[in-house]
Amino acid sequence: MSEGTTPLPATRRMTVVAQDPSVRRADGRVLMASIDVPAEDLLPGPIGYRVQVVDYDASTGRYGGAHALPASADEEPAAWAEGSPAIVGDRRFHAQNVYALVMKTLARFEFALGRRVGWSFKVHQLKVAPNGLMDANAFYSRQDEGLVFGYFPGRGGRTVYTCLSHDIVVHETTHALLDALRERYLLPSGPDQAAFHEGYADVIALLSVFSQVELVAELLRRGAGGGADFIAERFVDADALRKSALFGLAEEMGDEMHAVRGDALRRSAEIRPGPAWLKDPEFLEPHRRGEILVAAVMNGFIEAWTGRLRAAKPPEQRRHALRRVAEEGADIAGTLATLWIRALDYMPPVHLTFGDALSAAVTADLEARPDDSRFELRRHMLASFKAYGIAPASTRSDAPGAWRHEPAKMSYERVRFEPMRTDKDEVFRFLWENRKALDLREGAYTEVFSVRPCLRVGVDGFTLRETVAEYYQVARLTPAELAQKKIRLPREYVQLLSRKAIPDEEEENQGPVTPVYGGGVLIFDEYGKLKYHVHNDVFGSRQSARLQYLWDIGHLRAAGEAARFTPEGLAAIHRQRAIGARRFPAEGW
Ligand SMILES: [Zn+2]
Repeated sequence: MSEGTTPLPATRRMTVVAQDPSVRRADGRVLMASIDVPAEDLLPGPIGYRVQVVDYDASTGRYGGAHALPASADEEPAAWAEGSPAIVGDRRFHAQNVYALVMKTLARFEFALGRRVGWSFKVHQLKVAPNGLMDANAFYSRQDEGLVFGYFPGRGGRTVYTCLSHDIVVHETTHALLDALRERYLLPSGPDQAAFHEGYADVIALLSVFSQVELVAELLRRGAGGGADFIAERFVDADALRKSALFGLAEEMGDEMHAVRGDALRRSAEIRPGPAWLKDPEFLEPHRRGEILVAAVMNGFIEAWTGRLRAAKPPEQRRHALRRVAEEGADIAGTLATLWIRALDYMPPVHLTFGDALSAAVTADLEARPDDSRFELRRHMLASFKAYGIAPASTRSDAPGAWRHEPAKMSYERVRFEPMRTDKDEVFRFLWENRKALDLREGAYTEVFSVRPCLRVGVDGFTLRETVAEYYQVARLTPAELAQKKIRLPREYVQLLSRKAIPDEEEENQGPVTPVYGGGVLIFDEYGKLKYHVHNDVFGSRQSARLQYLWDIGHLRAAGEAARFTPEGLAAIHRQRAIGARRFPAEGW
């Protein structure tokens, strides 16, 4: 093969902080990790094809310059790989840490979903400011098309940099990706949907941290009292692993950083299984409620891990090779992250509940990874969610918790197969032709949001071709029209509406309107036949409770001739976490 035809490598290795600079090795150096990211020729910044690092500090107006990153892992300064404490103040390393973790997270999503994933705004490159402002905060902003990481004074005059925290960088990147895939999840709905953005970003961030063998091995070593290549059996049961892995990492992380991220990790170990949490008024608040999702996933992770260790160990053996225990844990965390990313395609585009998320996760995994005998992740997820009082939204006799197959009564005669894989108009025609069979309501405006062909590849080379299309429906109805559809409005809200209504002779009897939303996702198989239709009825029975909830928390307002919803920004939700709000939601918002 001549030099000119040598294929370019698909990935390259980069050194990043394994968790954050407070997680140290026994010799005082920062625990580092080496991760694979998509290979590309970077411009100074660094600027790549999907990420643009901008080292600009809005608080001081100072520009930190365009950083040229080492071209390969061999060219990295020795201090980076060794985890010298000097990396904490090294702005060039800050740039590499955010670049590598954002790209790794993007690559993880693209691998799991089997397609390219664009950002939610119409620009290819996400802007990332590693030292963007002096504040104990970090956030994703759709308006600014990017991620902003703050820094703040910690104890003893040290500066704490949020851009050096692995889980904070992945958490913010996950917000950006989730917003790209489910743009309406930031809009007001029920309590679960508001909680989902936060909880889900924590789930992907924690599973990303736990998918690093170096870190898991270090935590196990400490939990078992240090040293040794082996770990005694009593250190690998569920309670011991919860203590060494979840609590261990939570203990280790600087508590200054908890001000920024909240304490999802500690809570995921502390919120012990029980069905009462979801009904507790404190857990109606989004970030508290999100912690229940995190707890359910992380406890399921621990159960899958111990189950795997039990199954793999000969009965006469009293100890495990520590490295192997760590590898199993990291492997399960990685597989579980893929499962939860694939779940997004099977979630309804509006009005998500935790039960919907669970059914979506089980179905997506069943389709792309039918053989679950090794880790039994679907069984462990269902059992762990059940322990937290979360039942799947659907179930099937042949596959517990999964969405039901759409009965094969659709008409395909007037639609064409090829454009159905990419063309919104063609999918809309399919919806139109099948509106009765799909239970779409007349009198609501319908729009197809997206059509995405995917090719998902399993670890064993198993491939699955699907097309995923999202649509939504909206209707703006007067109180009388809503009543006809058996949707109840909060009484005080109706009183306010009637007081604010502007008499208009032309629109007599019309009155002020309130919007109600619905919509669904269509999953087509490789032959263009509909497999699943996951949807929320725009005039469904859940709307009354949802409107009451939005009224109670102050997100539904009577404004002149129409109702208004006031969305909550992510930056504000993070600030709520930061001040540790524990108030009843009515005050907390
Ligand atoms: Zn967040």
